[in-house]
Amino acid sequence: MLKLNNVSVKYGNVIALENVSMEINEGETISIVGANGAGKSTTLKAISGLVKCHTGTIELEDQLLHKSEPEAIVRKGIIQVPEGRRVFPQMTVFENIEMGATLRKDKANIAKEIKEIFSRFPRLKERSKQLAGTLSGGEQQMLAIARGLIAKPKILMLDEPSLGLAPLIIEEIARLIKELQKGGMTILLIEQNARMALKLSNRAYVLETGRVALEGNAQTLLNDD
Ligand code: ADP
Ligand code: ADP
Repeated sequence: MLKLNNVSVKYGNVIALENVSMEINEGETISIVGANGAGKSTTLKAISGLVKCHTGTIELEDQLLHKSEPEAIVRKGIIQVPEGRRVFPQMTVFENIEMGATLRKDKANIAKEIKEIFSRFPRLKERSKQLAGTLSGGEQQMLAIARGLIAKPKILMLDEPSLGLAPLIIEEIARLIKELQKGGMTILLIEQNARMALKLSNRAYVLETGRVALEGNAQTLLNDD
């Protein structure tokens, strides 16, 4: 579904990604793991068009992506849930989710789909009229995911969803990701928490200083550790 072919990205003289190739099939969860500075965020930015590829190509269902503007890439269905639980603090939970729908091509059935999303996120439903800034960290992460879902992603990219959260909340986020997988969602997950990412994934890419050091079945990587 999504393919990166020998992608390199430079920031000035810094080579952040070097000849990175990856493939994500429909319905798969792929994780990209690696230490701080390995190039995980840059990979997501290259896919979403926020940084330009110095060399290489990115394809979504045989359409070239890497020359498109970020807005066009979003409209093709590549939706990123940013790191750091960026929600609009002065807007309510409901309004935050509605904002996500502005990224959609078709504006039909939004109210019905927000209802469906609330049925999956009971914590958010209870707080639908509360300002997002008053939610706990875990709830803000859920809201950021809910806002991504209303945009009807073909591929949902999650940037460090476990960062800075308490273990119990991380389990809840993990359960949510599993539910999305059951619904057939294609997910690209970036994590420093490799164990969490591998447990949730079909396959994984391990990045080391901008290169793919290892690629394989997540369960196998988890056992080899
Ligand atoms: P990760 O997400 O795995 O922590 P990044 O993709 O953020 O890694 O960073 C990869 C490399 O690119 C690192 O060496 C980092 O310092 C560098 N880098 C990231 N963003 C910039 C930038 N805007 N300007 C210069 N160097 C950057
Ligand atoms: P956590 O233990 O997950 O960090 P918090 O202690 O931050 O959670 O918040 C507990 C609950 O109280 C959350 O459901 C959050 O939505 C609610 N809450 C926190 N701060 C406020 C506030 N200023 N106004 C209304 N509700 C709040």
